[in-house]
Amino acid sequence: MPEAQPAPAAAAPVPLLVDGQRRLASRSESMPVLEPATGRALALVPLCGPEDVDRAVLAAAHALPAWRDVPVPERAQVLFRYKALLEREHEALAASVARENGKLLEDARAEVRRGIDVVDFACGMPTLAQGRTVEGIARGIDSHTWRVPVGVVAGICPFNFPAMIPLWMFPIAIAAGNVFVLKPSERTPLTGLRLAELFLEAGLPPGVLNVVHGGRDAVDALLDHPLVQAVSFVGSEGVARHVYTRAAASGKRVQAMAGAKNHLLVLPDADLDLTVKAIMGSAFGAAGQRCLAGSVLVPVGAAAEPVLERVSAAARATRMGDPFAADSAMGPVIREDVRARVRRYIEQGLAEGAALLVDGRRAGDDGGFYVGPTVFDRVRPDSPLAREEIFGPVLSTLRAETVEEAVALANGSRYGNAASIFTTSGRAAAYFRRHVQAGMVGVNVGVAAPMAFFPFAGWKGSFFGDLHATGEDAVRFYTETRVVIERWT
Ligand code: NAD
Repeated sequence: MPEAQPAPAAAAPVPLLVDGQRRLASRSESMPVLEPATGRALALVPLCGPEDVDRAVLAAAHALPAWRDVPVPERAQVLFRYKALLEREHEALAASVARENGKLLEDARAEVRRGIDVVDFACGMPTLAQGRTVEGIARGIDSHTWRVPVGVVAGICPFNFPAMIPLWMFPIAIAAGNVFVLKPSERTPLTGLRLAELFLEAGLPPGVLNVVHGGRDAVDALLDHPLVQAVSFVGSEGVARHVYTRAAASGKRVQAMAGAKNHLLVLPDADLDLTVKAIMGSAFGAAGQRCLAGSVLVPVGAAAEPVLERVSAAARATRMGDPFAADSAMGPVIREDVRARVRRYIEQGLAEGAALLVDGRRAGDDGGFYVGPTVFDRVRPDSPLAREEIFGPVLSTLRAETVEEAVALANGSRYGNAASIFTTSGRAAAYFRRHVQAGMVGVNVGVAAPMAFFPFAGWKGSFFGDLHATGEDAVRFYTETRVVIERWT
């Protein structure tokens, strides 16, 4: 929940995008958009309420009949032009992500690339939207299924992927003939707005994609709006539950991607060089602020000593700093309150008697929200360090004696987003793939992220709904099935 704060003098308000026009919010409440690397205000984001949300939803609803009737190959042409503009703007978009989110520029470039992959996928809508036909399902009767747009879709996004997560949503929804209202994270609203403006530049008609800003009030107004038919949400578990139940209560379809606590299992036969590199990227990439971040290390038997020694040495050597500097290996976390939360978890781990091998609390206090890579050993399985999503650069180790015990530890989590195993044993990998309770499973891969052509398949407390983001799931989520039964004789 955002707190309204006094306006820094130089920061400009972030406009909404309604019916193809930039406009200022009708409410005066706002909060600064801070650059995590410096603490400097980049802009002022308005905290919209029901009035602005209503305006955006009405603009979308007004644009729906004409957009729905544009033949799908013509819609795809707009997507192709959008794809070309995103390629042209790739570097500028990556810089925008790095600036407002604080992740390294190189990581931001990869994020934008993963987002463009979704546009590539959506360009195939003339094929993806095809239905099925059975000629002669009964005497004289043919039957077909069609995929038709659901209508007005709302997309509510988190701060940690300001480009990729909006791009998970609106390109597929819009290619399928829907209209869209995007609500980027109020902590990173600038990239999402730019993405929407580029889509208009590609020839998208006004009103098909609109942008509102804010926190809870804006979200609840979208969830309650009678003209919104479907809601795509990505964010933390508590908010995902709220979004899922509130939107479903008014009959909307919902996909709510939520939090995570991902386990990384390491067997004694693992390739140590590959494994340590993958663990470092998984646990500390984007300062641990990824829903696919590995945050619990589970070394099996004799794997523990060498892997902890190597990971600790690499964590100590990690150079934190400016996301734009080529020699930085990790950027800041998003805000001061997040840094304080991470530090509280570290103190709690110490109080519980876990072994702190690398302490990130020492990280600089020079304006940016830096907290260093932190490694704990001998964490209790019931500790909050092992159970709760910290969403910062903290790796907690639970030791196991067998692969079965390690899988059982992973399965004890209430989350089920991702899990990875590092091993050279096909048998162990096969056991893991079959028994681990997570939707995205990595084998010798630290961040088990599906490409856009597959669904982003979280399980358990990591997902509320039944059809996930991206891939074929998304096409089904953004379309209704119409069954036509015909007799002509
Ligand atoms: P968040 O839950 O704080 O915010 C997400 C969105 O919800 C924002 O747009 C925000 O404005 C809105 N919101 C916040 N509080 C609200 C409230 N009380 N009522 C209604 N709306 C509210 O999440 P975040 O901190 O921006 O993002 C990090 C979280 O997102 C982590 O938990 C991470 O695991 C999760 N995440 C999940 C996935 C996935 O695919 N499973 C992907 C990325 C991030």
